[in-house]
Amino acid sequence: MKELLTGLDVVDDADVLDSLSHDDAEWAPYGKAVAAVRPRTTEDVRRVVAACADRKIPIVPRGAGTGLSGGANAVDGAMILDLSKMNRIVEIDAENMTATAQPGVVNDDLKKAVAEHGLWYPPDPASAPWSTIGGNVATNAGGLCCLKYGVTRDYVLGMEVVVGGPAGDYGTVVRLGRRTTKGVSGYDLAGLFTGSEGTFGVITEITVRLRPARREAPRTVVGAFGSVVAAGEAVAAITRAGLLPAALELLDRTCLRAVEDWKHLGLEADAAALLLAQLDTPGLAGDEEATAVAEVFRAAGAMWAEQSTDEIEAEALFAARRLAYPALERLGPVLTEDICVPRSRVPEMLASIEATAARHGITIATIAHAGDGNLHPLILAPSGDDEARRAAQAAFEDMLTAAIAMGGTVTGEHGVGLLKREGMRQELSAGVLAMQVAVKQTLDPLDLFNPGKVIG
Ligand SMILES: Cc1cc2nc3c(=O)[nH]c(=O)nc-3n(C[C@H](O)[C@H](O)[C@H](O)COP(=O)(O)OP(=O)(O)OC[C@H]3O[C@@H](n4cnc5c(N)ncnc54)[C@H](O)[C@@H]3O)c2cc1C
Repeated sequence: MKELLTGLDVVDDADVLDSLSHDDAEWAPYGKAVAAVRPRTTEDVRRVVAACADRKIPIVPRGAGTGLSGGANAVDGAMILDLSKMNRIVEIDAENMTATAQPGVVNDDLKKAVAEHGLWYPPDPASAPWSTIGGNVATNAGGLCCLKYGVTRDYVLGMEVVVGGPAGDYGTVVRLGRRTTKGVSGYDLAGLFTGSEGTFGVITEITVRLRPARREAPRTVVGAFGSVVAAGEAVAAITRAGLLPAALELLDRTCLRAVEDWKHLGLEADAAALLLAQLDTPGLAGDEEATAVAEVFRAAGAMWAEQSTDEIEAEALFAARRLAYPALERLGPVLTEDICVPRSRVPEMLASIEATAARHGITIATIAHAGDGNLHPLILAPSGDDEARRAAQAAFEDMLTAAIAMGGTVTGEHGVGLLKREGMRQELSAGVLAMQVAVKQTLDPLDLFNPGKVIG
């Protein structure tokens, strides 16, 4: 195998290989990879895929490894394809408002580069300072501003992918999708690969559409609530009132305290929950929107609700939201939920999370893209405590079941990976599961691309 990879950046150091063999989902198991390769070009990827296929070696693509479902975790004997060195922005076409990038470009770097052309790439997972565009596309990442601006899928126009194929022709390079604003020539295969979690092939280049940069800094409204459920009621009321914030995020007291203890940002850590709303309609209408959101918060029982007039303070609040997950990780292993329920059911789901924590005698901290109904109850379970881990696993499953019963889904944005496979089987009908298997078998008959993930 080594001879076939001559000239490529091959990692076989045991410690580095171990660090490249898993993502950020601490609960997901991972196997022992044979090696990792860091390709720089599509041709490098093509060579690795063809060489692995000849020897039936499983291929696990990887971006930055910030995934939260075990999607980038190695299986025994796998070759890790670490795409982080394919980090070139190929083109920014300002006239047509598109950008083309290699998969290893970090989300925030793409944002900064297009901003220099007066443009904006909206998808903003809280991991944007680290996660890659390839990983974002492979997971169809969401983020804070999906509520108004949509998820990664809404921005992917086309992509280049190294695929397998019906003839076992692994290593074929294809271009899917388009560069034009519209286009319906054939089935939407770029759409199919978006969110496929590395199980259909390796994405080597992506073309995304952009929007004009925002003309004004968004307004921020903060509401402090005496209970998490009251904050949930405010979220449902925002939707009912026909208001459309660019972001509507929730942090509960445990998250606030974890961030405050770590970063000392001066957060209101006494409230049971904070809601952070961002409004970006320009001009007077934006001011009116902010006032209306604060009123809805108050009517829903907020202890207080105010528009932040200080841009630095507003940014600190959203920074706190982005830091909540790493802040909790400092307290111990975290089992991350990613359920999504219809927005009207957010209060009910939040109450169900509280009841689940009480029933199992465990701590669940919640952050949420609340405006999307996408909740991240984070289960804290001390390592080495088997009973606590069993209780955490049972609580995890209870919350998946509750979300499905409310017409929701087991994963809003993190993907199925390893952790949500059972949940997905519970959510989808037998017929739909069979269709998923049929697609996988057609595109990857040798089951070499990220085996065991999603449907495995
Ligand atoms: C602090 C924190 C906050 C987060 N916030 C959010 C959030 O707000 N919204 C959200 O959606 N997610 C969030 N996540 C989860 C994670 O950041 C996203 O899933 C992200 O899209 C993963 O990108 P990555 O580059 O780290 O990919 P990885 O974790 O390396 O890989 C993710 C999946 O994509 C596949 N993959 C990666 N690159 C390719 C490629 N080029 N071709 C084919 N398959 C590939 C992998 O095999 C794996 O299945 C967060 C994670 C952390 C740690």
